[in-house]
Amino acid sequence: MATTTEDVRMESGESQEVETFAFQAEINQLLSLIINTFYSNKEIFLRELISNSSDALDKIRFEGLTDKSKLDAQPELFIHIVPDKTSNTLSIIDSGIGMTKADLVNNLGTIARSGTKDFMEALTQGAGDISMIGQFGVGFYSAYLVAERVVVTTKHNDDEQYIWESQAGGSFTVKRDTSGEDLGRGTKITLFLKEDQTEYLEERRLKDLIKKHSEFISYPISLWKEKTSEREESDDEEDQEKMKEDKDKEEEGKVEEADDEEEKKEKKKKKVKEVTHEWELVNKQKPIWMRNPDEITREEYAAFYKSLTNDWEEHLAVKHFSVEGQLEFKSILFVPKRAPFDLFDQKKKPNNIKLYVRRVFIMDNCEELIPEYLSFVKGVVDSEDLPLNISREMLQQNKILKVIRKNLVKKSLEMFNDLAENKEDYKKFYEAFSKNLKLGIHEDSQNRAKLADLLRYYTTKSLDEMTSLKDYVTRMKEGQKNIYYITGESLKAVQNSPFLERLKKKGFEVIFMTDPIDEFAVQQLKEYDGHKLVSATKEGLVLEETEEEKKKFEELKAQFEPLCKVIKDILGDRVEKVVVSDRVVESPCVLVTGEYGWSANMERIMKAQALRDSSQSQYMASKKTMEINPTNPIMNELRKRAEADKGDKTVKDLVLLLYETALLTSGFSLDDPTTFGKRIYRMVQLGLSIDEPEEAEGGGDEDMPPLEEQGADEGSKMEEVD
Ligand code: ADP
Repeated sequence: MATTTEDVRMESGESQEVETFAFQAEINQLLSLIINTFYSNKEIFLRELISNSSDALDKIRFEGLTDKSKLDAQPELFIHIVPDKTSNTLSIIDSGIGMTKADLVNNLGTIARSGTKDFMEALTQGAGDISMIGQFGVGFYSAYLVAERVVVTTKHNDDEQYIWESQAGGSFTVKRDTSGEDLGRGTKITLFLKEDQTEYLEERRLKDLIKKHSEFISYPISLWKEKTSEREESDDEEDQEKMKEDKDKEEEGKVEEADDEEEKKEKKKKKVKEVTHEWELVNKQKPIWMRNPDEITREEYAAFYKSLTNDWEEHLAVKHFSVEGQLEFKSILFVPKRAPFDLFDQKKKPNNIKLYVRRVFIMDNCEELIPEYLSFVKGVVDSEDLPLNISREMLQQNKILKVIRKNLVKKSLEMFNDLAENKEDYKKFYEAFSKNLKLGIHEDSQNRAKLADLLRYYTTKSLDEMTSLKDYVTRMKEGQKNIYYITGESLKAVQNSPFLERLKKKGFEVIFMTDPIDEFAVQQLKEYDGHKLVSATKEGLVLEETEEEKKKFEELKAQFEPLCKVIKDILGDRVEKVVVSDRVVESPCVLVTGEYGWSANMERIMKAQALRDSSQSQYMASKKTMEINPTNPIMNELRKRAEADKGDKTVKDLVLLLYETALLTSGFSLDDPTTFGKRIYRMVQLGLSIDEPEEAEGGGDEDMPPLEEQGADEGSKMEEVD
């Protein structure tokens, strides 16, 4: 930060220090973007500045709750808007908390906000426009949409009055305010408007803007209005004035000539314009949540939502309700149209529910009011029962708050259910917030069943449109007891999974779960509407069968038992066990995981996460069971060969190849793709009847002997590579 200090000698003779600071690099970039981007919707600057004032007023009001003396310097809480046509300035004045000198330097220029970069990215990538600025926490700089110079005069209880000033261009100055203007407490932002922006001096325009964007600010916003009245001056007065004038002139030695009789007559009739100023209150004071929901239009809710959240788009859903009885509160909850850019940013404090007590703002981002998974729900709560001077510490244990929280969750879920009635809207909602619902299923055992109703999935029978579990149940086949699902990396991967073969053949619908968080949610969900949720890729998949089918299967099982033993010997620790199964219809075999263990997909997710540490990977790997398909011709042929010669090397090689292929088709990853590749190449060679090249015998392929020509001693080499 480049800082220069210069002494400016004031007219009064008093010396005053002016410090110059360089804007932090990103803020500087942001400023030039704001100044140079062609953008017509400049009016949003006023909303941003008023919103800042409102925040500053919230802060001092909150401090005043526990220490009344904090309000002494200026007991009134207000926002004043003052246009001045003579100086081409527009001032926004608030009696909020104000800024100390350090605040000025830090907040208005030298410390970058996390949102600065995100906002510029959104702008330059065309993902948004300047009106989004407030959401990114850099709203102040929107002043430069309309101003060429901005002067911020501010007084904080803990410091002297200071003046910040900048014309952008890389730097700003800060100095003590010795002008004599006394704010008492608060901030005055004076915009020296650009030549073509003088529309923001017009009363009508300002009034409309405040109504449009800032109507629901909970502090009075008053506009300094010019009032012109005409009045006829009485003859008496005028004559007296005239006489006085003449007298003055006489005294000065200039006697007026007498030819102004005519003029006098005219003056008698003349109306005189009188210009006075007065404050006009522009925003309605009654908070919208206190009004009757039947009388509030969608536009009003939208305007309130926007002022509450800084969102530039309307809300997707709203729920306005009051709770009465032992406990009383009113609330309005909103669902935004899209997830904020930092939805799951752990560092950022959620800013969701504003808490009021009997109309007095207490705090925003009250974490105790709503669980984390609903942090995207925005709104207000106004309690009749909480004490006004409640502190954050008290909130944590507060019983009233717990009851409010329970109600907010209940009402939020109701709101989502209402949304579900409109397919289009629900689709938008689900795209933006399905992760939150699934997180809720994982965390909120009390509301798990209700949340499950809100889930939507693609399935084997519903590929174009997501379906609810409820609808799945209505489509269940007679005798079908379970709800079947498969988890995997993508729709494509699960759609063609060998695990579905048998289920499809039986006509059972299978749900596709392809979001990593599904894996976690489904572990907790376990069942829906009395039906167990059964994974198609895990053990415990028992399909309803006829007696005949069972008998036939038992026979096959007995026949293949010896092959299972051979395979298990070959695969060793790679698999927990090898069993005959009717899970697959076409593929020769699959690898399943334990009913309560990790699925292949979960293993993939966990591998991708931080737990990549190799010391843990062994421990983490899921226990796999190889299930072989006795009706598959490959398996049948293998069985015959193994029966003929237990030590058949081809059998061994093929089993390893089948295992590795099954890893892939079952959704696992290969630990050693190279060896797998080599095996495949040799199969290709074999298929093309190519003999092993001469030189290869002593060369690089030494460790991978041709399939059919392995010597007795080379089996051990195989082990090494695998
Ligand atoms: P945001 O308001 O989203 O934090 P801004 O860029 O609009 O971001 O403002 C930056 C900071 O400057 C605010 O966080 C606040 O600390 C301070 N500030 C801005 N306007 C005022 C004001 N009217 N009164 C007191 N502080 C203010």
